[in-house]
Amino acid sequence: MASLPQKATHQQTRAFNQQLVLRAIYDHSVISRAEIARLTGLTRTSVSELVGDLLRTGLAEEVGRGPSTGGKAPILLDVPARGRHIVGLDLGESAFSGAVVDLRGTIMHSMSLPLDECDGDAAVDLVFTMVDGLLASNGSSPTLGIGIGAPGLIDTRTGTVHWAVNLNWADLPLGELVSRRFGLPVVVANDSHAAAVAELTFGPRPRPANLVVVRVGRGIGAGIILNGRLFQGDGSGAGEIGHTVFDGGSEECHCGRVGCLETVASMTAMVEAARRLDASIIDEQALITAMRGGNTAARDVAVRGGEQLGRAIAALISALNIDHVLLIGPATELGDDWLAAVRRRATASVLPLLARNTHIEIGAEPENVVLIGAAALLMTHELGLSLAR
Ligand SMILES: [Zn+2]
Repeated sequence: MASLPQKATHQQTRAFNQQLVLRAIYDHSVISRAEIARLTGLTRTSVSELVGDLLRTGLAEEVGRGPSTGGKAPILLDVPARGRHIVGLDLGESAFSGAVVDLRGTIMHSMSLPLDECDGDAAVDLVFTMVDGLLASNGSSPTLGIGIGAPGLIDTRTGTVHWAVNLNWADLPLGELVSRRFGLPVVVANDSHAAAVAELTFGPRPRPANLVVVRVGRGIGAGIILNGRLFQGDGSGAGEIGHTVFDGGSEECHCGRVGCLETVASMTAMVEAARRLDASIIDEQALITAMRGGNTAARDVAVRGGEQLGRAIAALISALNIDHVLLIGPATELGDDWLAAVRRRATASVLPLLARNTHIEIGAEPENVVLIGAAALLMTHELGLSLAR
């Protein structure tokens, strides 16, 4: 939870208390003013004033009366799901997808635009086109802001994409460009980080406080949740395991080095390696089908990729001692042999005492996992609210 600066101004105190009250209403979803005062420690008078502000701005609504405890039945409050909308974007590898999401994470409208090999400024224009389309579909409902999940190394504090090789972006101030164009707050996060937030939000309960979500598609990245919050590291690059070099790797990586994890364990790398052994394996779907059909070339390649991934996951487990690891992305379609290889190598590479409590499972992967997670990050950033409760 955010804490108040020691020498807070009156305005800061009010904003802080406002957020406390809003969060109490949002998390309880129907609550009385008296109950808010009890939960937050604020006076009844302060709560009434702050609730008044929230009612005026449409972030709270009165939804009937609760049971009486002797006196007058208390009026109950809720945060209307459609009180604000958020635009969420997933700047994926072959297409950009976006949606308008309400305050409870429900998708209202969505759209997708093919990337068609475009990159650089053209890819930025495609982001603008998508936001234009989504805002137009949203009618007159107030928009809270824009949450963007993008591949690559991203500084979420400044919204700068430091490096996204397939979009040909380097030190691109994407957050600033989008914010200036639309006059709205923007949060930009790495796609695996956004996906981890979505897994935490929509995964099975009880939700673990600590979680690692590893996404394996054309690239490989991890999102790390510590104490229920996304951990991004000092340079927002936490979980960038795809470009860790391993001994014995010989393939050149698109990052310019040799032997990165992505050169053996990403879907792209596995498809290429399998195709060299069996010319019929031409794409991800063909690899998945071959794997399920018991094709030995596909199996050998997938098991090798799974083992190298397991080795990288072992390093995360050893560094963080996190029990719950979820795997998401197209590679999870490869089936049991791949999953077994990941687990085998991960657990064999850490202390047995750590391995005993480690659970490596396939994630829930809700549809539009990245854009939902990006929208959730924006909501937390702007209102202090979290879907994950
Ligand atoms: Zn690399």
